[in-house]
Amino acid sequence: MTKRSLRTSTGRGLEPWPVLGLLLLTVVVPTACVLWFMSAAMRNERLAVRQRLTQAYRQHALAAQEALEKHWLDKQRALAKADKLPAARIFAELVTSGVADSVVVYDKAGQLEYPLLEAPLAAEPDEPSSPWLAAGELEYQQRLPGKAAEAYATIPREAKDRNLTARALRAQARCLAQAGRKHEAVVILTGPLASAELRGARGAGGRLIAPDALLLALELAEETDSRQFRALAGKLADRLSDYGDPAMPSGQRRFLMLALREVAPDVPAFPTLAAEHLAAEYLEARPPPARPLQLSRAPGDLWNFPSAGGEVAAIFRTETLLAEMRSAGRLDEPFAGATLALVRPGSPPAEAEAVLAVAAPRQMPGWKLELRLAGEEPFAAAASRRNAIYLWTGIVGIVIIAVLALMVGRFVSRQMRLARLKNDLIATVSHELKTPLASIRVLVDTLLAGRYQDQWQAREYFSLIARENERLTRLIDNFLTFSRMERKKVAFEFGPVKLDEVVAAAVEAMADRLNGPNCKLEVRVAPDLPAITADRDALVTVLLNLLDNAYKYSKDDKRIAVRAYEADANVCLEVADNGIGLSRRAAKNIFDRFYQVDQSLTRSAGGCGLGLSIVKFIVDAHGGSIDVATQPGKGSSFTVRLPVGGAAGAAGSRKD
Ligand code: ADP
Repeated sequence: MTKRSLRTSTGRGLEPWPVLGLLLLTVVVPTACVLWFMSAAMRNERLAVRQRLTQAYRQHALAAQEALEKHWLDKQRALAKADKLPAARIFAELVTSGVADSVVVYDKAGQLEYPLLEAPLAAEPDEPSSPWLAAGELEYQQRLPGKAAEAYATIPREAKDRNLTARALRAQARCLAQAGRKHEAVVILTGPLASAELRGARGAGGRLIAPDALLLALELAEETDSRQFRALAGKLADRLSDYGDPAMPSGQRRFLMLALREVAPDVPAFPTLAAEHLAAEYLEARPPPARPLQLSRAPGDLWNFPSAGGEVAAIFRTETLLAEMRSAGRLDEPFAGATLALVRPGSPPAEAEAVLAVAAPRQMPGWKLELRLAGEEPFAAAASRRNAIYLWTGIVGIVIIAVLALMVGRFVSRQMRLARLKNDLIATVSHELKTPLASIRVLVDTLLAGRYQDQWQAREYFSLIARENERLTRLIDNFLTFSRMERKKVAFEFGPVKLDEVVAAAVEAMADRLNGPNCKLEVRVAPDLPAITADRDALVTVLLNLLDNAYKYSKDDKRIAVRAYEADANVCLEVADNGIGLSRRAAKNIFDRFYQVDQSLTRSAGGCGLGLSIVKFIVDAHGGSIDVATQPGKGSSFTVRLPVGGAAGAAGSRKD
């Protein structure tokens, strides 16, 4: 009767791994997809930004090119407008209006018109006549300046030519000054010589005599801070700033400008002086002919931009030209992390590689506009904000997937646990109920058929039926407790409990077996054990399960000990046996539901693997603990520790 029949399969066959694997796949695959999309989106974003920026850079460079072109067209218009004026006026007009650093003007035949170092005389003065010779004799041979002055004074009356008249007056003034008669000299220099009539009179090399006479008058003046002196200086300054007729040779103008600033430092600086010097410097270098309306290099770090007809050449210094271009094309303003640089023809390549280059406007052949990145990669900087959005979206997506998977996982695992429990329960119940019922039926049939020898045998059969019945009752009790445990419907009735009573009740309930011939029971309860707050019936269930196991898992010569004692503010209940013991791994799992060390189909010991899980549940509810000391083949010792204070009310007081 004790041999078990075949066990039905349990829910343990319901492996979680395929489901877990599938679940993992549902997380890993979308996560991998999200990551792939994310990285692709980030890469595309970087490319798109690079493309957009390059497009914007091109627009920027083209806008600068257009601005430069407009700048040159303005210059072209200014040159064309000035072209109609006399040569000297063209120079003055273009220089003072800032169109060019300097200007050189040619006539239609390509002959230089301005600046001329000397002005050709319209008509050469007459050969020196006898009065000139006589006066010259007195001045240079006899060194009689007074007499020479008188001799020179007679010439203007006879002279037919205004140039000769002016020359004679200048010679007279010179001799008077030499004779110490400075005042008389000044009167001539600022009087007749400064008259409108002699305004165009020229001396050697085409120099205008009147402005020279004014300078001489200033040099002869004794008081340099008199009103008259200042008026004279002002008059000469006006004359030097006047580029109208009669034209002054540029050499004379530059000389007088410098000399006047020395004699009268208060005179304001001449705005055209630098341009005059530059034009002279330019012409001295003999520049090659340049193409109209095209900027070309000239010797001496200068640049030339001739008008449409080539008559007016605007001259630029390199630094002025570059500054003008920078401001016209707004090249100094950084644009989206990049700057535009104007590159001259033939200049060495810059250190930083250009992102893109466009040709400068057609007026600047060979020049280029290059766009270079300033500092860090602006593409990355511009893309990083978008990328951060992608990144966060990706992370949020992955987190959502993970959370959903976790929820689904928990749900599935709960469902699987339930399914397993159901399977285990059905399998165990059907098996464990079938065996005792079959035994009872056989015994009852035997008794009914009168197949027993005597009264003792009949009695033995009855006691066997009673034992199977007891087993069934305990089994069903365990199922009911387990079912309540699962539905969280277990309620304990806590009250003062004395352990000796619990021990007595449990031993009494199993007296039949424990006092059997092949079993030796030892009960040792310490005297004066404190009462604990607990559910008495529940503790009896605990002890019954432990005793049942000790009995079941011991061989023929069973020695079972029940001890109750106090240790470390706990009352302890110990059930030790000399049974088959447990491996270390099995000892870890025995408190799990439906766990049985021997899962073979022909287990000899009855049971459904619920006893110890019920024991643990009850002990936990009392705030206690349970552990097992065991050795395979030597026996096991289960110790339940319950706090002396108890865990009153831990699970309410309702009993289901
Ligand atoms: P069962 O109804 O199978 O006895 P339990 O939950 O009471 O279920 O015990 C779980 C398993 O622990 C048992 O199947 C048995 O293998 C092992 N076990 C329990 N008590 C002992 C013991 N005293 N000696 C050896 N093995 C034990």
